[in-house]
Amino acid sequence: IWSAVPAGPPDPILGVTEAFKADKDPRKINLGVGAYRDDQGKPYILPSVKKAEEIVRSSQPDKEYLPITGLPEFTKNAALLAHGADSSVIKNGLVSVTQSISGTGALRIGGAFLARHYPHSKVIYVPSPTWGNHIPLFRDSGLEVRFYKYFNKETVGLDFEGLKADLRAAPEGAIVLLHACAHNPTGVDPTQAQWGEISDIVKERKLFPFFDMAYQGFASGNTTKDAYAVRHFVSEGHQIALSQSFAKNMGLYGERVGAFSVTTASPEEKARVDSQLKIIIRPMYSNPPLHGARIANTILSQKELYSQWEGEVKGMADRIIGMRETLYNVLTNDLKTPGEWGHIKSQIGMFSFTGLTTPQTKALAEKAHVYMTADGRISMAGLNGNNIEHFAESVNKAVRG
Ligand code: PMP
Repeated sequence: IWSAVPAGPPDPILGVTEAFKADKDPRKINLGVGAYRDDQGKPYILPSVKKAEEIVRSSQPDKEYLPITGLPEFTKNAALLAHGADSSVIKNGLVSVTQSISGTGALRIGGAFLARHYPHSKVIYVPSPTWGNHIPLFRDSGLEVRFYKYFNKETVGLDFEGLKADLRAAPEGAIVLLHACAHNPTGVDPTQAQWGEISDIVKERKLFPFFDMAYQGFASGNTTKDAYAVRHFVSEGHQIALSQSFAKNMGLYGERVGAFSVTTASPEEKARVDSQLKIIIRPMYSNPPLHGARIANTILSQKELYSQWEGEVKGMADRIIGMRETLYNVLTNDLKTPGEWGHIKSQIGMFSFTGLTTPQTKALAEKAHVYMTADGRISMAGLNGNNIEHFAESVNKAVRG
């Protein structure tokens, strides 16, 4: 039956991990995967998550099905985390929200909802480059994916003129995907002033903003600051769609905790949107998993635990910022590596777009046992006090050829 099925290519990001696993050299470093590691290079379970898990366990909860849209307290608190307690859409009960299978699931529910119900367009503009999975994800949802300029290779920074020109040229009503903070893969975010201009263009062109917020708290160490773009757009009167993930900021990767929401114009409209989200989700997976949502909700709803969690998010963000400083200093001051490396410090969040070329990344894997995606993206979280020297020296050699 399957004789005509062609073999597909391996996933470009998960393929890096496979190559890393097959390498037996003790100096090997995996900078491919976007998961936080502590200063010993180990996966990190947040102490606030451990505490929340204890609280959940001691309440001896049942294992009944959740409603189609998930744990109601969790989704309420997730929307609150994104919008803030002072938000008009929160106060007026205008956010239609559902639990999702982490950020990917939220984007997929969003894609399906827009493909079915958004009246003005089936076209979604995503930044170039973007998280690789956005493209097949939105295509499989029934949307046509197009790109807007985002990254300037020369400056290793934002191509703001290109971005504005592309959004202005987009057909009226098109959907535009915006990374709320800590853009993946570039680590380059618009400034607050630039977000203001983007909001104006989105308004002028009547575009529909869909925010992907996979790293709230991870960019600056502060969840409020990282929600700036989302809150600014809402305060400017935009209706938005929003995907949230708790994979990175709570370290709940495999628990698959997320939320998808849309802001609506009235409680009556919200009720209609709620009903359609259920109709989309029910035949996909019926209802979401329990455990991770209970953990996240325990953190979000208990004041002390929430403060502890905020401190731990800041701790992760700060360790990464520290690694950026060290890497920059070793490359420029100690090794005098040719080129300009300021972007390593100025980029934000888990990833850095190093500017290394595909042949250089290949040489790094083959000669130095250092693994990253072919576009030169590194997960800063994979660097630590034990491996940063080896990494910097290997980059130095690769750049010098
Ligand atoms: N969006 C972006 C921009 C991401 O980087 C990621 C994770 N790499 C996700 C969404 C989804 O992640 P998850 O499904 O694990 O929440």
